[in-house]
Amino acid sequence: MMSKNETKRTPAGDRAQHWDLEAEVVIVGYGGAGAAAAIEAHDAGADVLILEKQKADTPTFVNHTPSSRMCAGALLVPSDVKLAAKHLELVSLGNTPADLCLAWAEEMSHNLEWVEKIGGKCEPLFPTGETPMYPGQESLQQTFTVGAGPGIWQVLENAVEKARKIKVLYESPGKELVVDPDTGAITGVIAQQPGKTIAVRATKAVILTSGGFQYDPELLRESFGFPTAWYANPGNTGDGVRMAQKVGAALWHMDACGGRSIPVTDMAPNPATGRYTARPIIAVDKYGRRFFDESIIESRTHQMWREAVYLDTKLGRYPRIPYYLVFDEKGRLAGPLGRANPRGFLADGTLHNFYEWSKDASAEIAKGWILKGDTLEELVAKITQDPQSEGLMESEVLKQTIDEYNGYCAAGHDPRFGRPANWLKPLGTPPYYAIKMLPGGMSTHGGPKRNTRSQVIDAFGKPIPRLYAAGELGSIYYFQPSAGSTLGEAFAFGRIAGRNAAAESIRQES
Ligand SMILES: Cc1cc2nc3c(=O)[nH]c(=O)nc-3n(C[C@H](O)[C@H](O)[C@H](O)COP(=O)(O)OP(=O)(O)OC[C@H]3O[C@@H](n4cnc5c(N)ncnc54)[C@H](O)[C@@H]3O)c2cc1C
Repeated sequence: MMSKNETKRTPAGDRAQHWDLEAEVVIVGYGGAGAAAAIEAHDAGADVLILEKQKADTPTFVNHTPSSRMCAGALLVPSDVKLAAKHLELVSLGNTPADLCLAWAEEMSHNLEWVEKIGGKCEPLFPTGETPMYPGQESLQQTFTVGAGPGIWQVLENAVEKARKIKVLYESPGKELVVDPDTGAITGVIAQQPGKTIAVRATKAVILTSGGFQYDPELLRESFGFPTAWYANPGNTGDGVRMAQKVGAALWHMDACGGRSIPVTDMAPNPATGRYTARPIIAVDKYGRRFFDESIIESRTHQMWREAVYLDTKLGRYPRIPYYLVFDEKGRLAGPLGRANPRGFLADGTLHNFYEWSKDASAEIAKGWILKGDTLEELVAKITQDPQSEGLMESEVLKQTIDEYNGYCAAGHDPRFGRPANWLKPLGTPPYYAIKMLPGGMSTHGGPKRNTRSQVIDAFGKPIPRLYAAGELGSIYYFQPSAGSTLGEAFAFGRIAGRNAAAESIRQES
């Protein structure tokens, strides 16, 4: 990367009057996708400049918290490329073309060897797979890790720091792309630094890797219809979506995400995640009605979002935002309601585990996260005090729901929702308890549409010259097939983008 002070150039293509900096490949966003793109472009011979929005860490404080660093670090590696590609195509319900699914599976299958090549030592993790309803899921069962988010991040950071021709500029958010008005090619990035605006020329290409839009209430509402945000990097505010939109990119998957449902606590960003083992517990909507097989909260964690955001058009409302987990005394005593997993850094610079739930829920009851009623009537009275409940639940309805559910437990079969027999534990021992659940913990998938080379596609289906994107920004997923798939995709398409960006010719000045 060279410093530039060319008086002839303005930030409008190559006839710009002034560029402050220059590199062959300029990357916007230093997370997993950005790091993978940078390493791959560098190894292919390019010099690389990464613009990162957040501040650099200090020796005692973590300022830079991409989701890739906060995450659990599960990394998916497909075991059979063709099967995995076909599976993703089916799961995408027509929203991701077959060639892209194949490119994804091929590149994902190199994730393990790539992480080991750049210095990581991978251990097998839990078997995964959340879409068994389609054939080929068995090819997406294996995840690996290098020790959660901080572990994998250390490997990426070491590789970036070791690379002679990669430079990272922190506190330098990309704001706009510079376009050559004659060719439509992307020639650079306008970025903000404390107290000044800089123009950065990219002589080969720009790669956008600025993550999702979990912390942009406006984009969340426009895309999903309601604002929610729980954990993820607070720096991920959809900047890349807007930068790409401005230069004519087609957007896709804006209404898609891998998302959970999260117990509501007073911790923000909310680090609590629930794991609900088979116990006397049911999930009910605002009316007190069951609506699904509760076992999927555990078995398909990344799909829970879609179950929870159902819009009842007859009622004109979201009856499951929030929904409630209702349990009895036996349920309370059946062990912690959540499991503490090792996780990454939070925005406050602390390395944290997910909240450690007390064994008998007493701590959460004391905090007011879990409501308690000696009778169902008392519990419902407490639930309906919350404005988000809209006061819709009636104790008689909840009682009927529980009676029906208990009947299924006695029969050992849930004909309505198919809750597995080993999950059918009757409720009936007072006191009763409820915890409020909201959709959250999402990886947004929306952003600029890309092709198999990770080039950004314009509104008419043509690649925008010299512009690439990777990671959560415009992810190829419509329906996330398993744990480990988003970090895996960030690495895979980061590498594809980096490789192809480095292979671009050096732009001739016009
Ligand atoms: C708690 C948690 C657990 C998770 N666990 C897993 C898991 O185990 N396995 C899995 O596959 N996925 C997991 N995920 C999801 C996964 O971490 C993300 O999908 C993936 O890391 C996204 O990578 P990325 O590079 O696209 O984005 P990020 O890693 O978020 O990087 C984006 C970077 O761009 C920067 N940025 C934003 N705007 C700008 C701008 N204008 N200019 C410059 N820089 C900008 C951000 O500050 C950030 O550093 C988890 C996520 C979270 C939050």
